[in-house]
Amino acid sequence: MQCQTVLPGTECTFWGKQGCVFTDGSCQIIVENCEGCERIVTGTIGQVCGAYPAPVKKWANGICNFASHVKVEIKVDDAKAVNPLKASKKASGGKKK
Ligand code: SF4
Repeated sequence: MQCQTVLPGTECTFWGKQGCVFTDGSCQIIVENCEGCERIVTGTIGQVCGAYPAPVKKWANGICNFASHVKVEIKVDDAKAVNPLKASKKASGGKKK
């Protein structure tokens, strides 16, 4: 149903017949870590997240997985990259018969 408080007219899964069923009956404003994220929208209570009602929870255990401005970098060290075939031979002793 459509939100009628923080983001009036926006489809929201938390809005039901009794109003907003999210914690405390409302979205919460963004946190400092959200600044720069493309998902920030302006609601009646200030800047909120368009993807999740409680931004502070999204950052509680590390980087928000919805964030558009921060990416988790997985570094692969090419020098240490292992050829799976060679690794297999090495593991089996690499003996030639
Ligand atoms: S997607 Fe994450 S970082 Fe972006 S505004 Fe929402 S909670 Fe904040």
